[in-house]
Amino acid sequence: MNDCIFCKIIKGEIPSNTIYEDDTIKVMMDINPKTNGHLLVLPKEHYENLLDIDDNVLSKIITYTREAYPMLNEKLGSQGLTLVNNNGEGQDVKHFHLHLIPRYIGEKIDMESSNNRSEIDEIYNKLMD
Ligand code: 5GP
Ligand code: ZN
Repeated sequence: MNDCIFCKIIKGEIPSNTIYEDDTIKVMMDINPKTNGHLLVLPKEHYENLLDIDDNVLSKIITYTREAYPMLNEKLGSQGLTLVNNNGEGQDVKHFHLHLIPRYIGEKIDMESSNNRSEIDEIYNKLMD
């Protein structure tokens, strides 16, 4: 999709802090994190949402997510992981993506409001260590 910001990121036309990528998926830091280490997992091919994404691609996204959960706890000191997938109303970017939001004891998140801004580069370095 020509006007899709995530397709542009996947093509390398817009930079991103990439945590992982293979032929099927890309994982990057969310530019506006809800908590430290907020990641987005997206298919490289453009699917709009949960209704049109290919089952095998969705499976790869889930497999990555299961591997990432203990890795995030270990590297960031988080104690949980919240998954969010917006479809239709509430979905700003119409290219399927799963939010991986590490959770920290005592820290609440509000998906509808603006966030505590984290030091994205610092967290990126921890994850890539
Ligand atoms: P949605 O509401 O569509 O589920 O969430 C879109 C997410 O994409 C938001 O959390 C937003 O911060 C993130 N986002 C929007 N534009 C960019 C971008 O250019 N780069 C990155 N890394 N994240 C983005
Ligand atoms: Zn796209």
